[in-house]
Amino acid sequence: MNQIFSGIFILCTFLLGLYGTGCEKHNVDGKIHIVATTGIIGDVLQSSLDSNFVIHVLMKPGVDPHLYKATAGDISLLLNADIIIYNGLHLEGKMSEVLAKLSAKKKVIAMSDHLPEHALRLIDGAHDPHLWFDVQLWNDALQGTLKTIAQYYPAESQSSKEKADEYARKLKKLHSWTDSLITTIPEQRRYLITAHDAFGYFGDAYEIKVVGLQGMSTLSDFGMNDLMSIGNLILQKKIRSIFVEMSIAPRSMEALMLNVTSRGGSVNIGGNLYADALDASNTNAGTYIGIIKHNVNTIVKALK
Ligand SMILES: [Zn+2]
Repeated sequence: MNQIFSGIFILCTFLLGLYGTGCEKHNVDGKIHIVATTGIIGDVLQSSLDSNFVIHVLMKPGVDPHLYKATAGDISLLLNADIIIYNGLHLEGKMSEVLAKLSAKKKVIAMSDHLPEHALRLIDGAHDPHLWFDVQLWNDALQGTLKTIAQYYPAESQSSKEKADEYARKLKKLHSWTDSLITTIPEQRRYLITAHDAFGYFGDAYEIKVVGLQGMSTLSDFGMNDLMSIGNLILQKKIRSIFVEMSIAPRSMEALMLNVTSRGGSVNIGGNLYADALDASNTNAGTYIGIIKHNVNTIVKALK
């Protein structure tokens, strides 16, 4: 599979060299085509840019970005894009080679490049990529990205300005709403125990302690030691609820529940949280604002 993929890539890179697509030229339809890796990135761009821009998203709803590999169809979309926008910080770990190669020929922009180093969480020498769970930080990354787009396409960006400003105001409201709701959970019960370490920025921004059973990427597994130590925490702090994630099989959290109940404790599944992907576009959680609201409501209901 990898060989076929490399073959397609070399061919496309060759064609790209021949015909020199990209750069300041527009596509045949006169629109600027942006390819975003994740649904979350696609949604915030769609909400900020007007119809001069066409947004394409590679990863479908519910897809885990840590494990995602570009398909042949993706490569053709990427090669036809005017701009490619990705999260960075190794969120798209299996696409890094493709993105690096494309960046030699095309405008390839990482959302995370627009944030200062000190704003990034560093865990065991690696940056935590789950920026979108601090709404203010994600808005900063978005505004930086829009500025970069405006350098390439000033007229089209100017016509989107009103839409972008309105969306930025919505995100500011979402940040304060999240902050005020999480603080209604009594401090001794403010523990967010989930399947993988996606919620670190959320915890830092909204003052809730976060514990993930797997590591920062869904690639890593958990062991008996992790189960025991988190089980101890649940028993000691009498934590009522733990949470499963939509794009991860619930077996890890079920094992944790069993660990606690086998030692005489009691804990339930407080609900399903969205972590790294949106839901289908026709659902309430088909947008970035939708997943934040869903998560906050679920967490507060279970822990308050
Ligand atoms: Zn993740």
